Amino acid sequence: MLDSDRIGEVVLDVKDLRTYFVTRWGVVKAVDGVSFQVRRGETLGVVGESGCGKSVTSLSIMRLVPSPPGHIVGGQVLLEGDDILELDDGEMEEIRGSRIGMVLQDPMTALNPVFDIEDQVGEALKIHKNMSGEGLKANVIEMLRKVRIPAPEVRIKDFPHQLSGGMRQRVVGAIGISCDPAVLIADEPTTSLDATIQAQYLRLLRELQEQTGVGIIFITHDFGIVAKMCDRVAVMYAGKIVEQGDVRQIFNKPAHPYTEALIQSVPKMEEKAERLYSIPGQPPALWALDQSCAFADRCRYAFDRCTAEYPDMFELEHGQLAACWLREKDKVATA
Ligand code: SF4
Repeated sequence: MLDSDRIGEVVLDVKDLRTYFVTRWGVVKAVDGVSFQVRRGETLGVVGESGCGKSVTSLSIMRLVPSPPGHIVGGQVLLEGDDILELDDGEMEEIRGSRIGMVLQDPMTALNPVFDIEDQVGEALKIHKNMSGEGLKANVIEMLRKVRIPAPEVRIKDFPHQLSGGMRQRVVGAIGISCDPAVLIADEPTTSLDATIQAQYLRLLRELQEQTGVGIIFITHDFGIVAKMCDRVAVMYAGKIVEQGDVRQIFNKPAHPYTEALIQSVPKMEEKAERLYSIPGQPPALWALDQSCAFADRCRYAFDRCTAEYPDMFELEHGQLAACWLREKDKVATA
């Protein structure tokens, strides 16, 4: 239920999170000193190219990083003040699905093909809310109604293969919010949907957020979706956040060259272009990073200092943060 007095309070505080993978090529620093906050009722977009560490960040928050080879080697994840990295496996089980929900990219892998929708949406309610019988069934129908499944009294007996892709993703959304979590992690939830269904799904997530006040972490590679969906954005590159701030501020005035390039690569309806823009080069191998700025090989503004030392994170006007030597002159503080 929405408690409007608590809108805006910090529900998730990620501090200096580090997740490393030990591989035969060396130690891969997939998440390397990531910090951000999520407030009740807001959506934080985490954006970057494939392999930048955004999905490992979400798996680390859920404590689902495969180990070995992955290890959370440092940092804190404070969920409503509790550091969930300190919990034992049983306590963490209690939290997954109740205080933090998750919506994954591919609903077919998130749903079990041999159980009907009633069983799958009802499972978290059974485990975390001790519901059973007719009360449980009524709640499952109510959840399906919330995510706009037509005739939910009938469709609860369907199996995943009997639903369209859009309906399957809405069922996954129903599971994610069934226990009224404080935080919902949506990891590329619209990638498998066509453009019309994608727009409907984004609208639905917004409506669910307005009803419940859930803080959403929206993981995507698409800056166009960030503009439609998010209040704030954290841009990741090579395992680190390189820019963070209010979405409008960052769209109007990106402070990091990587953010600028990502925004430039969003196709625009009003512009005719011979070729769409793409960022030159490839992201670096994460096991071979040195002291230089990881974006230096692809950056049109790179200069000597960029290869000599990794840039500090500078705090700019309006709380915008950017890790780029070009921004040192604009800083109001070093973050
Ligand atoms: Fe480009 Fe240098 Fe800024 Fe890195 S620090 S993004 S190389 S200008």
